[in-house]
Amino acid sequence: MNKNSIYGLTIEQLTEWLGQHGYKPYRASQVWNYLYRERVTTFSEMVDIKADCIELLTENFTIQTLREHVKQEASDGTVKFLFKLNDGNLIETVLMRHKYGLSVCVTTQVGCNIGCSFCASGLLTKTRDLSSGEIVEQIMNVQHHLDAAGEGEKVSHIVVMGIGEPFDNFENMIDFLKIMIDQKGLAIGSRHITVSTSGIVNKMYEFADVNIPVNLALSLHAPNNELRTKIMKINRAFPVEKLMDAINYYIEKTNRRITIEYILLKDVNDHVEEAVELAALFQDKKKKTYINLIPYNPVDEHSQYQRSDQESVLAFYDTLKKNGINCKIRQEHGTDIDAACGQLRSKQIKKDKDQSITS
Ligand code: SF4
Repeated sequence: MNKNSIYGLTIEQLTEWLGQHGYKPYRASQVWNYLYRERVTTFSEMVDIKADCIELLTENFTIQTLREHVKQEASDGTVKFLFKLNDGNLIETVLMRHKYGLSVCVTTQVGCNIGCSFCASGLLTKTRDLSSGEIVEQIMNVQHHLDAAGEGEKVSHIVVMGIGEPFDNFENMIDFLKIMIDQKGLAIGSRHITVSTSGIVNKMYEFADVNIPVNLALSLHAPNNELRTKIMKINRAFPVEKLMDAINYYIEKTNRRITIEYILLKDVNDHVEEAVELAALFQDKKKKTYINLIPYNPVDEHSQYQRSDQESVLAFYDTLKKNGINCKIRQEHGTDIDAACGQLRSKQIKKDKDQSITS
């Protein structure tokens, strides 16, 4: 039997499950404490918990479904982990060092069906959604890696921007967020968590209604439908006007700022004209939006896209600034390893395949 990861349960679900098996709520708190504060890696290390309860947990759950397959470390301290899941699938997780703390970029699906034309991850279509436990375990594995280094470092920020579309795995992603912000667990500040969507409009409304106070980022990448459809085919289903309505709803409902992600692709969407158009789009919500300009990391598979030159990036940035738009050029991480999202995973899958053919 394939057991579920214990990390997939919120504290409420764990309390309820143990309650159904005759255990008082404090047992759930104890288990929770062992998982997220003591950060044990086996049930048998939960020494204050009675043997019958340990047996029950061991019979029904696993505490480790992810195995480290490849780890790449960059000179700037970025670490890329390639984890192997129980079913053999590979997923990518990235630890990044910033002045303000340590952030982890997590994956929510095995592959992705959105098919953005610039993305290495989207080349491999979705095999399945990750369970909430598999998403939580990415953070826990990185935290265990930090614990082992003995420097007392802690994951302080999370970006749900790895492989997959988080809003296409909505329930599991929401449980993951609840587990991450739980005050008795890792207690990651909700303002330190960002969920990024390619723009699944109905889920943007739902996310606003659920109202977990984490940040939302929208991958826009173009200021009009013609260009956006060329770059992101999802724009056919959810065009720019619908996205703008959803953004307005989100801002009104949550009173929170939304981040707009814009990957700069040389001679595609990086002209001053597009910057002017983009600024016009957000003119009436300058205080509630923030535009992240992202220099593109070229991947072999998408040779039609190149990185914008520095001059164009700065001209784009200046145009937004002159129009009063809050924006910044995103700092890059791990440029001496496979920096683009999904690049390490797609290379490793190819390598594993080549090896199995030659062996
Ligand atoms: S950019 Fe994100 S949503 Fe688009 S294909 Fe890649 S993983 Fe999927």
